[in-house]
Amino acid sequence: MSDSKQITGLILAGGQGRRMGGVDKGLQMFRGKRLIDHVYERLAPQVGGIIINANQNQDAYKTFGVRVVSDAIGNFAGPLAGLHAGLSVSRRPYLATAPCDSPFLPEDLVARLLARLEESGAELAVAKTGGWPQPVFCLVRRGVLEHLTNFLKGGGRKVDAWYASLAVVEVNFDDQAEAFSNINTFEELASLEKATTAERTPAETGARATQATGAAAAAAVERLSQAPDVAPVGVVAGDAPARAVSRDALARVLSCVDDYDPNALKVEKAREVVRSLLVPVATNEKVAVRAALGRVLGEDIISTLDVPAHDNSAMDGYALRHADLNAAGETELRLAGSALAGRQFAGKLGTRECVRIMTGAVMPAGADTVVIQEIVQIEDNKIRIPAGQKKGQNRRLAGEDLAAGKPVLKAGQPVGPAELGLIASLGLAEVTVRRRLRVAFFSTGDELASVGSVLKPGEVYDSNRYTLYGMLSRLGCDVIDMGVVRDDPASLERALQAAAADADAIITSGGVSVGEADFIRELLGKLGEVVFWKIAMKPGRPMAFGRIAHAGNEAHFFGLPGNPVAVMVTFYQFVREALLVLSGRTGDCALPLLQVPCTASIKKSPGRTEFQRGLLARDARGQWSVAPTGAQGSGVLRSMAEADCFIVLEHERGSVNPGDLVQVQLFDGLV
Ligand code: AMP
Ligand code: MG
Repeated sequence: MSDSKQITGLILAGGQGRRMGGVDKGLQMFRGKRLIDHVYERLAPQVGGIIINANQNQDAYKTFGVRVVSDAIGNFAGPLAGLHAGLSVSRRPYLATAPCDSPFLPEDLVARLLARLEESGAELAVAKTGGWPQPVFCLVRRGVLEHLTNFLKGGGRKVDAWYASLAVVEVNFDDQAEAFSNINTFEELASLEKATTAERTPAETGARATQATGAAAAAAVERLSQAPDVAPVGVVAGDAPARAVSRDALARVLSCVDDYDPNALKVEKAREVVRSLLVPVATNEKVAVRAALGRVLGEDIISTLDVPAHDNSAMDGYALRHADLNAAGETELRLAGSALAGRQFAGKLGTRECVRIMTGAVMPAGADTVVIQEIVQIEDNKIRIPAGQKKGQNRRLAGEDLAAGKPVLKAGQPVGPAELGLIASLGLAEVTVRRRLRVAFFSTGDELASVGSVLKPGEVYDSNRYTLYGMLSRLGCDVIDMGVVRDDPASLERALQAAAADADAIITSGGVSVGEADFIRELLGKLGEVVFWKIAMKPGRPMAFGRIAHAGNEAHFFGLPGNPVAVMVTFYQFVREALLVLSGRTGDCALPLLQVPCTASIKKSPGRTEFQRGLLARDARGQWSVAPTGAQGSGVLRSMAEADCFIVLEHERGSVNPGDLVQVQLFDGLV
């Protein structure tokens, strides 16, 4: 076991202290001494020596008599540049980091990180509190320097992107989460100055933890965007009733997307982000076979038997021994009996004997071939077989369909009619499936009236909730219809909280377009992590996506536009696939694209993906083609009802001339 002598402690003090009037945070006074003095005193006993990374005021740090190094790469490139600078000069096999603004850091930080690092063989160990990694409290092996150097040379700056390429182990410090409190602002400094560690309230403790909520969110941005991707997004081991609220998960995903531009986001990029943030349900339940239709298998189904259980005949005819047949010319065999489906031939086939056999009947012992009845001649109990029969013909082998011990179906597969039949063919009365996905949805808008009421001036009936109900029901979700919610912050907050507490996913319509987004944006920021996009598509430009939490549950959030066609288009292009993945489906859930000629011209400029409503037609020769339905306005829901497909015009594509091939997505079978 390694000891503290083999570890260099690196105090990260390379920031500019922007929120502290430009004075380095480490040099701020706190409880009678500088912040960095507190950190030094806590870290030094845990390591063999200390290095400080600072990019300004170097002399002030030299009071410790230790080495002070500045970043080799310019522009205050964040903790990774500091780590790089420290690793470059450190000679010990391990290096532990702590930031200069964490005066309460745990006294056993390094020992615990080291124990887990060695035990796991990982390259880096990182502290974790409240389900969040604390990326600036880590221990690395010196050997990662080369890897880090290459990463930084390649332009990489984000901790998460670097961590993603390393073997990382997380070490839980929930027992002393407040020890990771850091200080970002004068207010935090003042409030912590007064309180003793023991007295600090949860609200005060861990600026890192509290920062990410409400008004303090801005202070967290720096760290959140640097947080490591240590817990793979999109995978949960079990469906814990209360999921950890990982407010930085989206920021981490976004930091890894090339050319990310929330104001002109390509459809493909948006899909990529959505996919990366999904946490599928993992709870299973047992249901009767028929009830499994449309559900997702929760476990592999292993065949307990051979299907068919015995070799049997594929045709009505005569079962015989191929070796008895003359190679050239006819053969005469004696009819020894019959084998019917469910009633097998009792004896064993003797030499030059055959048995009358019906489709599905068990092959008699000794027989290996079936000759169909249409080609034989029967004389009393003699059967004449023509030449040219192949050994093994018209015989189904035991286990040909399903072999005992082999997986028949995999967890994550959807159960359709064929799967139901297969399951039944194994004699299984019950199937383990994923629990249904719970999806809450509501419409927003002061102008919306519910069906059955009399329209007042300026009102429109809420149709989106019905479209959504239809689309969600087809997907097999448990739907929670929350009605219409007024454009008022208190009502929206209540609705969102109720939905987040209960559902796996929340879908809203309306309220994400430019004029409306502001207070919703603020509200969603309070409840979780949501981004607002303008997607380079038509229809359906504005959309919000993320995760929000309430009462210990976290839900995926899809804020769809208000226009009725835009709701359907964004649902089918983003939400449908996401919900399938969330339901536990594995494999490709994307809608298939087919190519057909378009009979009309369509005007389009490159730079956005368009989803026109189209109608397929077949000509006299059986050739399919497509034409757009009439009005394509995003409010014209009739265009969806009249259409039977989307004509998908790719981002780069210009106008379509009659006869050009276009891609279509069929509505038929669309779930
Ligand atoms: P918004 O995105 O909220 O600005 O809404 C855009 C347009 O869609 C407006 O004309 C709304 O009246 C209409 N709209 C919004 N929500 C609904 C709904 N639930 N049903 C029908 N139309 C809606
Ligand atoms: Mg609205």
